[in-house]
Amino acid sequence: MPTATVRFHGSLNDFLPAARRDLAIPYGFEGGPALKDAIEALGVPHTEVDSIVANGRSAGFGYRLAPDDRIEVFGLDRTAEPADGLAAEPAAEPAAPGLIPAAPIPPRFVLDGHLGRLARYLRMLGFDTRYDNRAADDELARLSADENRILLTRDRGLLKRSVVRLGYLIRDDDPRRQIGVVAERYALAPVAAPFSRCVRCNGLLEQVARSAVAERLAGEPRTLRYFDTFGRCVECGAIYWQGSHFERMSRLVREVLHDGPAIVENRPARDAWTEDER
Ligand SMILES: [Zn+2]
Repeated sequence: MPTATVRFHGSLNDFLPAARRDLAIPYGFEGGPALKDAIEALGVPHTEVDSIVANGRSAGFGYRLAPDDRIEVFGLDRTAEPADGLAAEPAAEPAAPGLIPAAPIPPRFVLDGHLGRLARYLRMLGFDTRYDNRAADDELARLSADENRILLTRDRGLLKRSVVRLGYLIRDDDPRRQIGVVAERYALAPVAAPFSRCVRCNGLLEQVARSAVAERLAGEPRTLRYFDTFGRCVECGAIYWQGSHFERMSRLVREVLHDGPAIVENRPARDAWTEDER
């Protein structure tokens, strides 16, 4: 059987068993399979691959494997220097545009059922984030494709579906680290609008006066006394104010966005926050 070698770089090694990382992996095939199929058969979803070098030249997913091909596969974290002699010589032609399509600005997301806390964090930062923990895989893939949303998931199989163009595997279990990674990868800081969206349903918040919420908050006289303005979700009607969680949430926002408090203070609806009910 003819074989080629395929070597994955950087973060793409996260998808490989330890014994195959950073190595030229022999790949046997019949006929001339497309590179996309070979790469996914080795465990790496196409959504994570940003550039491919075949025998020293830039290649796309449709490139057909030939015997003895040497394939190098890079993610977004492509490094300039190949690690050692096993790597291909530099691409002979100017760098091709990346294979990962540009995400919408600001980015929109759809998350799988394991990522509820991350969904809340993204909404807290103002990003349009679809999340329904009962959504089936088909629906997540379709939403991602139809609405041009970045699919964030813990399930690599979901990212191998061909309709999914924008997606990323969340490697980490910890939601605080997850939001940090996502903020970095999708450059969220400059386009964030913290505290402008309902964390429960993804609706936008409108700023309303105390009188507008007095009836709803009749059972919370202290809240009504201490706060002048409130945020109200235009979709589900949830009320937000700068209550006890606000400081903690603001710290998280600043941490994630690597920014000072100004970014929070400059935003509309900054008064509209809290009672995150956890
Ligand atoms: Zn809402």
